[in-house]
Amino acid sequence: MTDPSQSKTVAVIGGGLAGLAAGCALADAGLRVTVFERRPYVGGRASSYEHPGTGEVVDNCQHVLLGCCTNLVQFYERLGVTGKIRWFDELVFMEPGGKSSKIKSSFLPAPFHSMPSFLMASVLSLRDKLAIARAFAVMARGPLPDDSPENFQAWLLRHGQTQRAIEHFWKVVLVSALNEDLHRISVRYAFQVFRESFLKSAAAGRMGIPSVPLSDLYSSAIEYIRARGGDVLLRASVTAVNQRQQRVAITTSAGEQEFDFAVLAAPFQNAAALLPVDALAEPLKQELSHFESSSITGIHLWFDREITPLPHAVLLDRTIQWMFQKSKFLETAKRDDPGSYMELVVSASKLLVQKSREEILELAQRELAEFFPIVKEAKLVKAAVIKEVYATYSILPGLDQYRPEAKTPWSNIFLAGDWTASGWPATMEGAIRSGYLAAEALTTVAGMPQKFLVANLPSTGLMKLLLR
Ligand SMILES: Cc1cc2nc3c(=O)[nH]c(=O)nc-3n(C[C@H](O)[C@H](O)[C@H](O)COP(=O)(O)OP(=O)(O)OC[C@H]3O[C@@H](n4cnc5c(N)ncnc54)[C@H](O)[C@@H]3O)c2cc1C
Repeated sequence: MTDPSQSKTVAVIGGGLAGLAAGCALADAGLRVTVFERRPYVGGRASSYEHPGTGEVVDNCQHVLLGCCTNLVQFYERLGVTGKIRWFDELVFMEPGGKSSKIKSSFLPAPFHSMPSFLMASVLSLRDKLAIARAFAVMARGPLPDDSPENFQAWLLRHGQTQRAIEHFWKVVLVSALNEDLHRISVRYAFQVFRESFLKSAAAGRMGIPSVPLSDLYSSAIEYIRARGGDVLLRASVTAVNQRQQRVAITTSAGEQEFDFAVLAAPFQNAAALLPVDALAEPLKQELSHFESSSITGIHLWFDREITPLPHAVLLDRTIQWMFQKSKFLETAKRDDPGSYMELVVSASKLLVQKSREEILELAQRELAEFFPIVKEAKLVKAAVIKEVYATYSILPGLDQYRPEAKTPWSNIFLAGDWTASGWPATMEGAIRSGYLAAEALTTVAGMPQKFLVANLPSTGLMKLLLR
């Protein structure tokens, strides 16, 4: 390992996943890293904290990953926390009234690995299934389409999708994967979701759920960076990033510190305001003016009894979209506790943002009882509603042209964050990729080029031929 006192220094602004990924990679490359995070914990939009109303440690929202998130999985390996992820191979789709269908993989080669369960699924008619199969046949071939102005709702209608196929399949998957309504989703990214998670291989579509609170999962990065001669400063809000000759000056309430390089890994809403106040910042500000945010609402319910043996389920035809029974996979859950802890997730939750906590809780319990009637008899012990109004940016058709690269016009300042040009939408995988891309760009400029990004999962079965 390089002697840290001899190393080039890097300031990383933002201890979300993008900043942590850049920080860990650069610390590994022998640079002396200081991460500035304004909150008292790391993880950014993927974090947990003690909820004041309930006294419980809650995630700001349930976060899931898929097998195709190769850089995120490698980041967990780097931190030594892969054992904290529980993997699930089957998804349960439920209708009000309790009718359900399971989608899981079989021995068949990709892209047909989920076909037997798909054919059995009662939530779709044969006509819906044939329409979906026709659309998959178009999606599974050749390179990804360019990010055109067409939206995915229009594409689905142009490709003869039935209303039920849209409601019970396309919408269910994409609204939760991309946190937007179908008419506000880019065709390119909709294709990417289905290719990477549904079509390429069975392994790519497995769903991973952390078994510890999110900030516990990601705080291992603090020790990782410190063990390599760097530091992570919490409650350290950066107010300005400026060039000083060949160096970068970082301003916080504690004063100004100089570094050889800086990686700005704040969300798009505050990134532009932190950059040097000069003409070079104007084009970036223009690009960022095209970004829009979409909300996610998490409804946390603690019942006095078990509501269902299922660890998670997709809930169809209602406002609530997913149920995660967290007491089934959290390591901290007491096994002898007869109660249960559930989180209901509503993505693209514009309609809930205006509602009060009481209205949301009433709606959530009423709808949950349509899937699990025992909810009517169960006692709700405590509850929390967490509205993340600016949860993710919307992957609008054509947005790619405005997503900046890691390299900026300032030779020693780099950008990271799920909003930069990572080739992925606003996800944990997108954030990690952006951090690795920033670290690659920085080590190149520093004259010590390194590769951090890892490859996508390979296609298997017939997909090897179709995507060649
Ligand atoms: C409710 C919700 C549910 C989600 N569900 C999923 C999911 O299931 N799966 C998935 O893959 N993704 C999910 N996401 C998206 C995922 O969380 C984000 O894409 C990812 O965490 C973004 O990471 P980031 O590092 O780019 O940004 P952020 O997490 O926003 O990190 C930026 C950091 O910069 C800090 N900061 C800002 N300004 C300053 C400053 N001036 N000085 C110092 N620090 C500063 C912030 O405090 C923050 O910690 C979800 C997001 C939300 C909000």
